Amino acid sequence: MSSKSRSAPGAGHVGPLLSARCTGCGKTSEKRTNEIVGDTPTGSFQHVCHSCRSVTWWNVLRVLEEADSE
Ligand SMILES: [Zn+2]
Repeated sequence: MSSKSRSAPGAGHVGPLLSARCTGCGKTSEKRTNEIVGDTPTGSFQHVCHSCRSVTWWNVLRVLEEADSE
């Protein structure tokens, strides 16, 4: 019986895993955050964009993985 409930190290921070688009450069990437403004499936959040080389706003496109709520 092996239980793999933990995310792999380096996968991100806490919160749901999201597919999101940077409003600065339009790049789509997978991000993890629990600081979403608005509803998770349609909200926005601030995150570092490596293309923009700064913190930008990201629009959620899809929820890939729900956050552990416990
Ligand atoms: Zn960007």
